[in-house]
Amino acid sequence: MPPVATKTILRYFSDALAAPRCACVQQNDLMALLCGVKDVLYANIVPAQAAAFRELCSDFRLKTESLVGIRNIGGESAQDVLVGWDKKKLLAARKAYADILSAEWGIALGYPECCVKSYLAWKADQSRDLVLHILHNSARGRLLDFRLNNVYNYFSRLENPGFRSPQRGPFAPVSDGEMFRRFLELNRGVNCEPVLPWHPCAYDCKKSLSAAKKLFGFMEACTPLAAAARRKLLSRPVVFRDKFDFAALSGGCSVSGGVFRLEYGSIAAPLAFPGGNEKSLLESNSVLKCRSGKTPLFPSGGALPRGYALLPFSAAP
Ligand SMILES: [Zn+2]
Repeated sequence: MPPVATKTILRYFSDALAAPRCACVQQNDLMALLCGVKDVLYANIVPAQAAAFRELCSDFRLKTESLVGIRNIGGESAQDVLVGWDKKKLLAARKAYADILSAEWGIALGYPECCVKSYLAWKADQSRDLVLHILHNSARGRLLDFRLNNVYNYFSRLENPGFRSPQRGPFAPVSDGEMFRRFLELNRGVNCEPVLPWHPCAYDCKKSLSAAKKLFGFMEACTPLAAAARRKLLSRPVVFRDKFDFAALSGGCSVSGGVFRLEYGSIAAPLAFPGGNEKSLLESNSVLKCRSGKTPLFPSGGALPRGYALLPFSAAP
């Protein structure tokens, strides 16, 4: 990575609303390049963002490789582009792009091999949501680091538009694309971007955690207010059944002898679509207990239905 002037970094990454932004480039992806956590960034550039994208590449002296073909994203044509400083790595990624469901493609983008392989194993199966697959791979009986919270990261996790999945909850069955639209609508103004620009293989993956610590350190240094808001949002424990069927809770978890105890105030952002009974149960209680790997229950009586899991995210795991 060539030296990038601090003033350029601080112009793009600050808590000021006027900071320039190319909406087609994920902030955490660009930070990952700047931190040396990954070498290649993949983006879909729509015409309205082309000028902002060119300016960003010029300011950071980034090289680009356009990928073949123009895609239609939400009615707009979009150009797939690879971005980075190392031409060789860009060309290797372009070659791997021929099969985006290959391990080579994920590895070319700079994701840890363990995480790429785990994601592909999930993709080939998909009998449950990716978050439950990752939880299953994680060590039990421990709090989870908020920096690996990917519950609200729907990138590479939604079915193809039009696929009708049997979503649970009051809106079943509708497509993932439609549920995602409703999720965004419900959470307008809430920044749900994760710290890590990929899905970890486990919530205690050492490589992912090391990268996420670097990334969050960068966020805290450049955008302290945004980093504090992100820490607060991502460290909320979550009771989770499916990708749009969950509830984040304002409170903190403790763990003792493999049993988690969560004292909470209310269901908190980002909001989702848990079933009505589950929502009422959560709203009428304030303490939840959960033996590792089991269904969460309320000490005052009652339990969430089978299929719900506790994701004990914490700011200080
Ligand atoms: Zn991993």
